[in-house]
Amino acid sequence: MIRYQITSHNPGTHYFSVQIQIETPNPDGQCLRLPNWIPGSYMIRDFAKNLITLEAFCGDEKLSITQLDKSNWQVAPCAQALRVEYRVYAKDLSVRGAHLDHTHGYYNGTSVFLEVLGQSDLPCEVLIEKPVTDTNKKWALATTLKPIDAEAFGFGLYGAEDYDDLIDHPVEMGEFGKIHFEACGVPHDIILSGVYRCDEKRLAQDLKSICEHHIQFFGEPAPIDRYLFLVMVVGDGYGGLEHRSSTSLMCSRDSLPQPGQKDVSEAYRTFLGLCSHEYFHTWNVKRIKPVAYQPYALQQEVYSELLWAFEGITSYYDDLALIRCGLIDENSYLELLAQTMTRVQRGLGRTRQSVAESSFNTWTKFYQQDENAQNTIVSYYAKGALIALCIDIKMRELSDSKISLDQVMRNLWQAWCDTGAGVEVDTIQRLVCSLLDADLDDFMHQLISTTAELPLDEIMSVVGIDVFRRPAANQKDKGGKSPNGPPPNVELGAFLKEREGCLEILRVEEGGAAQMAGLSAGDTIVAVNSLRQTLAQIEQQLKLAQAGEQWTIHAFRRDELHRFELKLIPAQRHTIELIPGRKNRQNRRAWLKGATKP
Ligand SMILES: [Zn+2]
Repeated sequence: MIRYQITSHNPGTHYFSVQIQIETPNPDGQCLRLPNWIPGSYMIRDFAKNLITLEAFCGDEKLSITQLDKSNWQVAPCAQALRVEYRVYAKDLSVRGAHLDHTHGYYNGTSVFLEVLGQSDLPCEVLIEKPVTDTNKKWALATTLKPIDAEAFGFGLYGAEDYDDLIDHPVEMGEFGKIHFEACGVPHDIILSGVYRCDEKRLAQDLKSICEHHIQFFGEPAPIDRYLFLVMVVGDGYGGLEHRSSTSLMCSRDSLPQPGQKDVSEAYRTFLGLCSHEYFHTWNVKRIKPVAYQPYALQQEVYSELLWAFEGITSYYDDLALIRCGLIDENSYLELLAQTMTRVQRGLGRTRQSVAESSFNTWTKFYQQDENAQNTIVSYYAKGALIALCIDIKMRELSDSKISLDQVMRNLWQAWCDTGAGVEVDTIQRLVCSLLDADLDDFMHQLISTTAELPLDEIMSVVGIDVFRRPAANQKDKGGKSPNGPPPNVELGAFLKEREGCLEILRVEEGGAAQMAGLSAGDTIVAVNSLRQTLAQIEQQLKLAQAGEQWTIHAFRRDELHRFELKLIPAQRHTIELIPGRKNRQNRRAWLKGATKP
């Protein structure tokens, strides 16, 4: 048994104090280490940078510690129980790290708990103590760690099966809101931290529908005996991270359903999609996972070509679940799907990188995007979701609506329940082919491992939907619905942001008008055709302009003023709307309901 203790003497200083009691340390000197990344977020984050004042004691004797590398330490030999003490600076308000101030505390175990090497399989106990200052008297605690000696939502003693379990149950502490509901008999709680207003009854009802949908999708019983949504509500923020029986979410205040609000706002729809996404991960990636993640090696990058399946398939079903459980209607769902198509089509990166490559290189590309990302990489979330769509509808087409991707997921789940084995690079392809008793190897290979355009027209026609392509109406146009009035015939090939009376170029499209004129990301446009212009004015002029027209642009690069001659080029038709027709209505209905024929 490894015993951890974590507290804070003064949350306002942002430090957690941690103690570890190791009963039988390695007689040659105990090694300790902290993860360099957190599962689900594929980037080296070097959590050890926030660890300070590491000390070790053998009884009353202070031991020397040798640092082996950035996140590994070796303590001098100790013949009896070893005590380790350190502090962790916690000021990362994200779902991936640790944060502590006078308003609340939050941490992932990957940020605060050193692993005791050689004893990682031992059960752990963690005593989570309430901070001792006056302002924290009303604080409660929320975590899915197993309580050993702690009241519901109380500080106290918690347990974990092993180190891997210990770091997969984030902890929130503070004066938070609690909403309880049951889904298929399993208790669920939503924890809301921060300043917010919310129609709690509606949120509970809607999340209950989503959770029950996913549990029934994979089949009862659910692989959890309770579940927590830990939601940090902020002015402007978005993010989520999946765990085995909880999820940490960050959302903006306006994305929660407001008291009296009846409709599903775009922001609330996005939030429901995020909750649905993370909950689906309870099966897809937290249990069914690539062989490479069994177990996670948290010291360095772990490569997988399969994130398109674990993030993409999850992204496909997150929104699909919203229509399947009646929270949004067909128009709303098709709008979301068209926006995903638009996101993929707009980036030239789709012609440069397959989703398998995007998955493999997530560490240095998807998670480290710069101003040129749209030209060079493709999102394994967005394109992965469309690949899932293509596979799903293709399977329905070839089987006369008897078999779908739903069965593939259920089979993967059953296989995990039976053997716990990881998913190989070709497991999903093999499963699709064997369920259909057909050879879809080429079709799947093309989708996953090449940069060929997705067969969206052909696939959508199977469910009676036309894929309509048009130019973007303006910068805010995400696709999915008709613009007010006809869109422009020409485009700048640059994404602009208004700043201090000027227009900053955030990114340029490769081969676009702006890049051909010599403009680049970071330039600040001060005049177009000798006039200072707002973004709205430029967008209005684009609507009236014709291809071939010349614009003179004055822009600062660093502190030097330059003049550029820009020739407008025809707008690309990469903005998508999905238009349901009269044909194949039954197929469409079955797909959107998740129904298959017996
Ligand atoms: Zn995800």
